[in-house]
Amino acid sequence: MNITRPAYQDLHLLPLAGQWRAGNAGRQLEVTDPFTHKSLLSISQANREDLDEAYRKARETQAEWAAKAPAERAQVMLNVVKIFDERREEIIDWLIRESGSTRIKAQVEWGAARAITLESASLPNRVHGRILGSNIPGKESRVYRAPLGVIGVISPWNFPLHLTARSLAPALALGNAVVVKPASDTPVTGGLLLARIFEEAGLPAGVLSVVVGSGSEIGDAFVEHPVPAFISFTGSTEVGRNIGRIASGGKHLKHVALELGGNSPFVVLADADLEQAVSAAVVGKFLHQGQICMAINRIIVEQPVLEEFTRRFVERVKALPYGDPSKAETVVGPVINAKQLAGLRDKIATAKAEGATLLVGAEPQGNVMPPHVFGDVTADMEIAREEIFGPLVGIQSARDAEHALALANSSEYGLSSAVFTANLERGVQFAQRIHAGMTHVNDIPVNDEPNAPFGGEKNSGLGRFNGDWAIDEFTTDHWITLQHAPRPYPF
Ligand code: NAD
Repeated sequence: MNITRPAYQDLHLLPLAGQWRAGNAGRQLEVTDPFTHKSLLSISQANREDLDEAYRKARETQAEWAAKAPAERAQVMLNVVKIFDERREEIIDWLIRESGSTRIKAQVEWGAARAITLESASLPNRVHGRILGSNIPGKESRVYRAPLGVIGVISPWNFPLHLTARSLAPALALGNAVVVKPASDTPVTGGLLLARIFEEAGLPAGVLSVVVGSGSEIGDAFVEHPVPAFISFTGSTEVGRNIGRIASGGKHLKHVALELGGNSPFVVLADADLEQAVSAAVVGKFLHQGQICMAINRIIVEQPVLEEFTRRFVERVKALPYGDPSKAETVVGPVINAKQLAGLRDKIATAKAEGATLLVGAEPQGNVMPPHVFGDVTADMEIAREEIFGPLVGIQSARDAEHALALANSSEYGLSSAVFTANLERGVQFAQRIHAGMTHVNDIPVNDEPNAPFGGEKNSGLGRFNGDWAIDEFTTDHWITLQHAPRPYPF
């Protein structure tokens, strides 16, 4: 490993097919800081030819990369972890400036991306084939576990570093080549920075490319292209549905993982420790300004403790510092862009018009939307039905635990969820009846560990990430038999 640069400065170039160069679309992408609105850098975007070159080079280099000893691929991952440690402040700084992360969130994200890379270092030695029995005399039956080949990764802007890394690191560790298309708001933390780090860690040129380009120019082509065997998409349900359609209905069929939107319920049963529940609700809602797929979207409280919970929650939310994300004390920083801010303004107006009571709220300052809390929310209101993806939340009243469960399940989404109760086994029984991929008893719904299955049910998507589940996703079975003795055929 050879760390050559004092700092990552030339990130306006794209790593395309083994070279750092400008894209050929003839259009610039201006990357701006969502808090200061200052330009961070300008990138020449990639077009379809650039994309084609990236995919073809990935196919060309993949077999050699896959043939490297497991320990060699593991070593690249360990080198990446070392660079993560050495460049921690630089990476965190990029997250703050490019994605409007508060310092707390940037540290959390740095930790999550580092953790999945460390986990990925163990994957090359965790892939196992099998020897099966056979009813055919003289036949030996083997199942080989092989990399899929080339994988296309599309990631969103909210946790760009981690949500790219959680596909990129395991996919590479397991012997695949990868082309990443980061979100236009976060091309550096969602792709270019990682490409630089993996290059310095010793990943051979061409095994990883990053294409930065508009969805309309290269979006469909990225998915339709004949080379990738698998598209790993993290983003909205609307775009994900379209990607699933293209991947399964186009000329070239391919595997797809869809990690989509959420609408996490946070249920507080009457026996819950209210102090703990309030603390969890504040973090589970407002970390990264609520722009997390697992963020609390609906607070559902059993009627006997509704008033007390609301009083304490509102008191805590009113005291949350918001504003400049680079300040250590800031909890709520800017939302990613003006379009998201306008969407949140609309959601606030609709909540008021539908009869919700505003308990906390203030006017936005730039892209900073101060925390908003609504009471008297019902399941049919937009703020309960739709994914919010911002620092707003509504509190719903449940008559009893069964009603709370029905409310929790009354959503088209099923990503994460949480329930608070003094009785942990009661909590587990409640959790088992929530239709979701993830439920946490007495904790926030925002949890992601590198060895635990991450993913959703219903319209929150298809597939699971992390640990053994990443091995399932990023490799495939190849059944190979050997006929040791001549086989007597019937004709
Ligand atoms: P988005 O769907 O708008 O964009 C996601 C990515 O898809 C971006 O890189 C974008 O450039 C790309 N894209 C857009 N149109 C495309 C097209 N036609 N073809 C190919 N690519 C296209 O989502 P977003 O606004 O970036 O992110 C927010 C959404 O992501 C929320 O709904 C959130 O819940 C979801 N999300 C889900 C998870 C999860 O793990 N389930 C994690 C984070 C975010």
